[in-house]
Amino acid sequence: MEETCNLCGRTVPASCMESHHLVPKHKGGKGMGTIRVCVDCGNQLHLLFSNNELRDRLNTLESLLADERVQRWVQWVRRRREFGVCAKEKKRK
Ligand SMILES: [Zn+2]
Repeated sequence: MEETCNLCGRTVPASCMESHHLVPKHKGGKGMGTIRVCVDCGNQLHLLFSNNELRDRLNTLESLLADERVQRWVQWVRRRREFGVCAKEKKRK
């Protein structure tokens, strides 16, 4: 089964997807909205932004997609379909 990442738009095995909490869980986001992203994008969001930034400024899919640093990452990773954890997952099968 495959899923499409809401950020980079790559289609990857469902096992390479994760739910990104729009408001980090320990910042009060438990039970609130999540988006489905690939593991690479999920990791990248937490490298780019602090939990406070995610909670205060980037708590919707729209605001994430509008952020310049997210856009730069998405453009970069889109050209690398096989980049990251998902590539490893594919090879193992
Ligand atoms: Zn992605």
